[in-house]
Amino acid sequence: MVDYIVVGQGLAGSTLALRMKERGKSFVVFDDPASNRSSAIAAGLFNPVTGKLMTKTWMAETLFPELHRFYYWAEKVLGQRFFYPQPIYRPFLSVSEQNEWMGKSVDPGLHDCIQQVFTKSRPGNQVHDPFGGLVLKECGYLDVLSFLHHVKNYLVSTHSYFSEWFDEAQLEINTQGVRYKGIDATKIIFCNGTASQLSISGKNIPIRLLKGETLVIEVEESLELIYNRGVYMVPMHEKNRYKVGATYKSKVLSSEITLAGRQELEQKLNELLRVPYRIISQDWGFRPTTPDRRPLLGCLPGYENLIIFNGLGTKGVSLVPYFSEHLMDWLSGKIEIRPEVNINRFKSLFSKSTGVA
Ligand SMILES: Cc1cc2nc3c(=O)[nH]c(=O)nc-3n(C[C@H](O)[C@H](O)[C@H](O)COP(=O)(O)OP(=O)(O)OC[C@H]3O[C@@H](n4cnc5c(N)ncnc54)[C@H](O)[C@@H]3O)c2cc1C
Repeated sequence: MVDYIVVGQGLAGSTLALRMKERGKSFVVFDDPASNRSSAIAAGLFNPVTGKLMTKTWMAETLFPELHRFYYWAEKVLGQRFFYPQPIYRPFLSVSEQNEWMGKSVDPGLHDCIQQVFTKSRPGNQVHDPFGGLVLKECGYLDVLSFLHHVKNYLVSTHSYFSEWFDEAQLEINTQGVRYKGIDATKIIFCNGTASQLSISGKNIPIRLLKGETLVIEVEESLELIYNRGVYMVPMHEKNRYKVGATYKSKVLSSEITLAGRQELEQKLNELLRVPYRIISQDWGFRPTTPDRRPLLGCLPGYENLIIFNGLGTKGVSLVPYFSEHLMDWLSGKIEIRPEVNINRFKSLFSKSTGVA
């Protein structure tokens, strides 16, 4: 008997497993790594100032302190390094944008995220920035692949990991909880990302796929900062290699890399980067998003032992530390799930898809 069965070891399942360990809960994790096309592709960037309007991201004041606390703690527990806070440099495209940011830099709401404003090209000459640019702090990246790898090693070493596809048809639901292949648990938590649909209830989980393509490039010299305008360039393990991304496509969702994706990234890269580079490889993945771009937490309506932790969308790295803790607090009966992320907000959608109120 364990407290929880966790399905999926992407960012959601990995973080939740560490939270369970922190709280002394017993659990097992089922994961089929071959089907992971989200966490394994992610560049792992986090940045509290985002979007076309470059405003503070939703709940930044709560999410970002927790993000730093959690990943430093995870590094300590796992004895490995995968969390890299680092400034991001965003060149301005015009004098008016420069003026706008000179004003915004004294705005108390944004002040703590701004390290420096350049009104002419930043020394280093690595990117096109004739109007200067903005250095943002409280940013950086998680080496997601390394994080997943070390969490998996921990799970294997504690005999709590099954490297296999979880077959929903074999799940039994009973009055005590659930049973799967002889393992009894009080609850099962689906952290299955884009494979979110469960035939068990006939209910349509409102997860939408948002495709992203990325490039790996090798540049002739190391880049001084993370550059981000149109595309980002995030350091990789190998010297002078960077992950460049990403595209956003919600309509044409072929499971493959495309020439259009490569051309779009190359064009944006050429507009940004002055240092010569060559393309090493291209990759693709799907982000698990929701219609209102907020995470999805709670029990599948009508099934109190079937829990969903999903909908991390484009910002999994910054959302998952806080919301994994939130989910654990809810599971232990301490709190209600915040309405903005509660799966109940899609009640009408569930009813529509099944005819059940
Ligand atoms: C191109 C791209 C770039 C991105 N860049 C960033 C970024 O820079 N910063 C950021 O914060 N976010 C980024 N993201 C988003 C981020 O990757 C997602 O928010 C996050 O990875 C979602 O994690 P997850 O654990 O919910 O899902 P997933 O990573 O998809 O994990 C789900 C896991 O469940 C497993 N699984 C599913 N069903 C089963 C089953 N039945 N049996 C066994 N295993 C199962 C899958 O194999 C997988 O391992 C990016 C995404 C993409 C595609």
